Amino acid sequence: MRTIPAQTIVDKVAEMCIAANRELPADVLQAFKTQQAAEENPAAKEIFRQLIENAELSRETGLPLCQDCGLAVFFVEMGEDVRVEGMSLREAVNAGMVKGYKEGYLRKSSCDPFTRKNTGDNGPAIIHFDIVPGDKLKIWMMAKGGGSENMSRVMMFPPAAGWKGLREFIIKRIAEAGPNPCPPVLVGIGIGGNFELAAINSKKALLRDIDDTHPDPEVAKLEEEVLSAINKLNIGPMGLGGKTTCLAVKIATAPCHLASLPLAVNVQCHSARHKEVVL
Ligand code: SF4
Repeated sequence: MRTIPAQTIVDKVAEMCIAANRELPADVLQAFKTQQAAEENPAAKEIFRQLIENAELSRETGLPLCQDCGLAVFFVEMGEDVRVEGMSLREAVNAGMVKGYKEGYLRKSSCDPFTRKNTGDNGPAIIHFDIVPGDKLKIWMMAKGGGSENMSRVMMFPPAAGWKGLREFIIKRIAEAGPNPCPPVLVGIGIGGNFELAAINSKKALLRDIDDTHPDPEVAKLEEEVLSAINKLNIGPMGLGGKTTCLAVKIATAPCHLASLPLAVNVQCHSARHKEVVL
């Protein structure tokens, strides 16, 4: 059994929260550059120039990439042979998030759903736990802004809807979202499982690199098909038209009940902030 001091987790999570909000992932920045070159629409080219400049300024100055520093979402894989000493794992992740958002001067966006009173510390962190074999602790952090999250949907289809029904729903969702999620977006799709698993999988799918290919070639084909259909919508960067409405589509599947076909579409804005750490 391996012991990890809770304070180590607190400090690492705090670092991740600050870094995620200041450093755009390299694959996202590269996608901006590639798409800037590919765009013919002058407005789209200019938006990409601004997004690249924004990412550079953020890294240089330490100012957040976006004023909406998001709700902090964590995916935690805890090895069965790991023990956390000093506080519970949940407490340690939450304390690290609070520390990071405070010390990084990141906007606190969490509030009571009815009174709208701010909780004051961006908490509680939203944490999804998985117990896995081994003696490692792996933590992914996502800063998930409200504008793109609001455009996400879960829908329970009858099985007869098939891929055609799912595909129509996904494209219609992004078309209706228009400029609201600050495109170019990334789209995470959960298919199967049940109501909540589809939603969790759709968000977890967004942790994949933009350029990776799904290990199942059939699913990889569906990702390409949806990406291409979304990019024909001509919404473009920030909704000003162009070829690039979406940078990537990532699908995660899970077995489901024979009576249902769950679908979740999680929309991620261009400020696709996430980090990971392995302890
Ligand atoms: S959707 Fe994304 S880029 Fe737009 S305001 Fe929210 S966090 Fe910022």
